[in-house]
Amino acid sequence: NAETVEISARETEAGRRAYELDRAHVFHSWSAQATLQPMTVLRAEGSYVWDGEGRKLLDFSSQLVNTNIGHQHPKVVAAIQEQAGKLCTIAPQHVNDARSEAARLVAELAPGDLNRVFFTNGGADAVEHAIRMARLHTGRKKVFAAYRSYHGGTHLAVNVTGDPRRVPNDFGDSGVVHFMPAYPYRSYFGSTTEAEETERALRHLEDMIVLEGPQNIAALILESVPGTAGIYVPPAGYLEGVRELTRKYGIVYIADEVMAGFGRTGKWFAIEHFGVVPDLITFAKGVNSGYVPLGGVVISEAIYQTFAERAYPGGLTYSGHPLACAAAVATIEAMREEGIVEHAAWLGENVIGPGLREIAQRHPSVGEVRGLGAFWAIELVKNRETREPMAAYGGSSPEMNELVAALKAAGMLPFANFNRIHVVPPLNTSEADVRRGLEIIDKALEITDRYVA
Ligand code: PLP
Repeated sequence: NAETVEISARETEAGRRAYELDRAHVFHSWSAQATLQPMTVLRAEGSYVWDGEGRKLLDFSSQLVNTNIGHQHPKVVAAIQEQAGKLCTIAPQHVNDARSEAARLVAELAPGDLNRVFFTNGGADAVEHAIRMARLHTGRKKVFAAYRSYHGGTHLAVNVTGDPRRVPNDFGDSGVVHFMPAYPYRSYFGSTTEAEETERALRHLEDMIVLEGPQNIAALILESVPGTAGIYVPPAGYLEGVRELTRKYGIVYIADEVMAGFGRTGKWFAIEHFGVVPDLITFAKGVNSGYVPLGGVVISEAIYQTFAERAYPGGLTYSGHPLACAAAVATIEAMREEGIVEHAAWLGENVIGPGLREIAQRHPSVGEVRGLGAFWAIELVKNRETREPMAAYGGSSPEMNELVAALKAAGMLPFANFNRIHVVPPLNTSEADVRRGLEIIDKALEITDRYVA
């Protein structure tokens, strides 16, 4: 229980030593190594983490939007311990009860006839394998992917990514074609209504498909609600239209649910909000709240049939790792027993959504708030008319740095990206803690308001 945690002087001392060793030996993701100042985490419990000085912070980031059931959930910790006592590892070619049950549960939750699961170690390799399956299934090579998206850090996953991280990794060898997705607040198509945005974005996509040659296009990959790139919920009709186009041209539709899946939006999979059934779903993160690395691809019957008699040429030593799968089974069961997905939907409708809309009215630096469930973004601007962002896409700014520092000083661990603060607490965060977090944000936004022109 987060109320009773006490951090001893010995723990903070150990934290200092860990920091020194980290700076001496750990090479961090996406960072300039020498100038980085990472935060030490000594402990975590529920919706809270304790930093290197033993300060308690409200986790409004769910780490990388993955600890959907919060930290140290006792049922999941117990399931990992029990599995560790029984069987820590087993090669992927053998049958294992934790893996079988995890696959059954994921198949049960997935829509339509997506009933087979290929397990990976995380989201990026799920994306790699989904694309490989699509290419082998269709005999085609090209992959359509959206700008303003994130699909992972490995070779092909970062190449289908449509954010600034792709650029230094783009060696031009992957057959990837990027298109502009629907994004009403910053419409590339000059749309003024959602209906117009849907219609124009779909026309643009179809034009691009025709110009690139449908006979060459294996897959289209799209986050059902793009996460890292801004939690911009697709306008009505957009995903339905994408599904129609992929059907029309025989293209495999890969719904990337790595971030939006497993309850984040208030439904098990975000695509359920739109009534669309894709051909493949990639998942990771929330499947077991990241307690042990796990991801995977959920596969339709048609694509399964391609590999029914012919070998699938791909695999991983840790595919369906028993500790990770035991954690997934316990996570999904706990989410069902405790109504955690329903709670996320309730928070979105009754607390986060209304709370953020009120905040938007009070603060001129808020350009837009948007989201579903426990998956919301506050887009900050210097000018509401021109929508000039508080930090450029792909960049930082002193204004945003000041805001983030103030949120931390007030006791929050925020998720900030460019000109946005994402409100992405664990799905089972209490109403009181969510309200407290919103109050912290409300107060801190006085900082960005000062820079509004
Ligand atoms: N796809 C989406 C939509 C993601 O948000 C992420 C990670 O943030 C990934 C894929 C990559 O997952 P991982 O970091 O587990 O490889």
